[in-house]
Amino acid sequence: MRVCKFGGTSMADGESIRKVMEIVRRDASRKYVVVSAPGKRNKADIKITDALYACFSALDGGDFDEKFSAIYRRFCDICDDLGLNIDISAILDGVREDILNAHSRDFTASRGEYLSAVILAAALDVPFVDTAGLIAFSNDGELLLEDSLTRLRAALSKADRAVLPGFYGALPNGEIKTFSRGGSDISGAIVASAVGADVYENWTDVDGFLSADPRIVRSPKLIECLSYDELRELAYMGAEVLHPEAIFPVRRAGIPINIKNTFHPSAAGTVIVPNVRHMGGKNVIAGIAGRKGFSIINIQKEMMNSEIGFARRVLSVLEEEGVSFEHMPSGIDALSVIVRDEYLEGKLPSLIASLWRATKADGIDVQSGLSLIATVGHNMTSRQGTAAKIFKALAEKHINIRMIDQGSSELNIIVGVDSFDYEKAINAIYSEFSVD
Ligand code: ADP
Ligand code: ASP
Ligand code: MG
Repeated sequence: MRVCKFGGTSMADGESIRKVMEIVRRDASRKYVVVSAPGKRNKADIKITDALYACFSALDGGDFDEKFSAIYRRFCDICDDLGLNIDISAILDGVREDILNAHSRDFTASRGEYLSAVILAAALDVPFVDTAGLIAFSNDGELLLEDSLTRLRAALSKADRAVLPGFYGALPNGEIKTFSRGGSDISGAIVASAVGADVYENWTDVDGFLSADPRIVRSPKLIECLSYDELRELAYMGAEVLHPEAIFPVRRAGIPINIKNTFHPSAAGTVIVPNVRHMGGKNVIAGIAGRKGFSIINIQKEMMNSEIGFARRVLSVLEEEGVSFEHMPSGIDALSVIVRDEYLEGKLPSLIASLWRATKADGIDVQSGLSLIATVGHNMTSRQGTAAKIFKALAEKHINIRMIDQGSSELNIIVGVDSFDYEKAINAIYSEFSVD
């Protein structure tokens, strides 16, 4: 049995939803379907989730009704196009009332997935099962995986087939809580794990996981098979075909993921398997991914290396300030911490002041404009020359490397470059390995 998740582009309009219906109907083992809110129909379009966030911002004194009416029209058009026999106007009026009453950002955003699932359930004539009472979050907003699995198992044991909305669940008091953006991938993975699916199919708008971001590298190679660990590294580092947290529920249950293209269903896609021993292929690297938007905090102090507890003091300050760090390269008299810019917003001055106090450093400076690029692949393990190839590729393009980190798993090599070199650097590394 399979669990399928269809992303925003697959649910964008009547035409794409007909493709979704065809895919679901073609194989009787596709019993449980999780959907995203309608996404963009073209580059200039707006995702329903973004339109709903804008509605929420307009709730207090803004043009809420004007913004909501665009969403209203979009769902009516979808139902018209599909010739659906449901009273979508009444449903949308109800949703509008609920948004006004709830006055909650997460509730408002969740209505995209809710409506998408109601519509697909009607179109397929399959029961709609709401995830609100099934995907459970703690009062702190953490996913309660075991609870969610138990609840989903109980609910779905009564439904041979179901369409479920992605992206949200509820807090203990019943209030709707969403995952972070792209979170329907996580909902699909939880459902797959709950029902013990043979495979979790994640349907999107590309033929599978590509060895680099297709918006940066022209026609990157398709990756046929990836391990969960490789996927986690690539997704975390920016290849957001799949939400990085979608891996955990299925990995625990040993369920493979198949990334598939709704608009080219005959393509095999990418299969993600739990164990690296399943891997074939001779390519040295699986893929390259990266992100912009990091800063380096450099801390210098003479004799730092012999000062016991120095790193702990630095890390305590980060913890107190609620700042998560990505890497911490160190030298004899210097230690650097690499953090996402979003963590520094509004707290950089107090963070730096606390670091001065805690470390009594000789110097602290912050450099922004850093991008990180990860070159990932199990086949790099124990193979000589991979790092050399990356550095050669960057040197030939005169790209300065500002940081290097290789994890002890040898699964990836991460380099930091200036953000203005980011696209150039990804292309340089890609071409170096694409000749393998
Ligand atoms: P969905 O709405 O179906 O969840 P997403 O937009 O979240 O789809 O993810 C698919 C998109 O991810 C692709 O259209 C592509 O532009 C982008 N992408 C970024 N990196 C990669 C990669 N390495 N391989 C494939 N797609 C990638
Ligand atoms: N609709 C949500 C978003 O745009 C969740 C998802 O598509 O996975 O982020
Ligand atoms: Mg997505």
